Amino acid sequence: MNKRIVIWSGGYDSTLCLWNELQKNKQVEAWSFVWTSIDPSKNLAEHNVREKFKKKVKKLGYIINHKIINLRHEDIIPEGYSVMQASMFVPLTVFLAPLDSTIVFGFHWKDDYWAFSERFNEVIKSQCSVMNKNVELEFPLRNYKKWEIIRDIKVLKLEKYVWTCEFPLHNMKPCGNCEPCINKKLALYENKIRNGNNKPMMKTVDIEVKEVSYCSVTKIEDEGTYV
Ligand SMILES: [Zn+2]
Repeated sequence: MNKRIVIWSGGYDSTLCLWNELQKNKQVEAWSFVWTSIDPSKNLAEHNVREKFKKKVKKLGYIINHKIINLRHEDIIPEGYSVMQASMFVPLTVFLAPLDSTIVFGFHWKDDYWAFSERFNEVIKSQCSVMNKNVELEFPLRNYKKWEIIRDIKVLKLEKYVWTCEFPLHNMKPCGNCEPCINKKLALYENKIRNGNNKPMMKTVDIEVKEVSYCSVTKIEDEGTYV
C-alpha cells in the first residue's frame, strides 16, 4: 500500500502541508530532519512548535506519526562547501522512504528547488530505479507565494504552531534580522497590501502537482534508520 509522508520542519510551509494532509487523512506520517549542528535554540524552537501542534491536532482527533531524523552537518556536507539543502535531503528522503510511498514537500513558488526541478526528477527517477522503489513526490504549495501561505496560516489560526527564525533570541523570540525573519516581514507586508487590514481573501485551495518516478517494486529490508 502506498504510504504518504509529509516532510515537516515546523515552519509555515510544511505545517500548512501537514494541516491540509490531516484534513484528508486523519492519521498522517510526518518526518522531521533535524540538523544537530545548527543553533540549538532554533532546533528547540522548532521542536516546541511541533510538539504544540501535535497536542493541538490530537485534541481534534488527528494522529501524527512523527519520526525525527537527526543529521550532523559535518558528517554530510564537506567543510567549506555551501549546498542547497534540498540537494541533500530530497534524495535522502527518497533513500529512506518506504518502497511504495508518496512524499509531500512544502516547496512553494520561487523556492530554490524549482530552478533544478527537472534535474531533481532525473536524479529521483534513477534513484528509484536503482533501489527498486516507487516513490512519488508531491508539492501542494508549488503555486503558492509566501504571503499566501502566511495568510492561510493566519486564517487557520496556526501562527502559534509555526517557527521560522534561524537565530532565536534568549527569550525564544524571533531575531527579526535573519533571512527567514525578513522574508516573513515582507510576506506579512504583502499580505497586508493585498488583503487590506489582513482580511483573508480565501481559504486554502489544495493544488496537487505530482511529479516524478515509478518503477517496479521488490522487497528491501528496512534498516531502521529512524531515531
Ligand atoms: Zn530571525
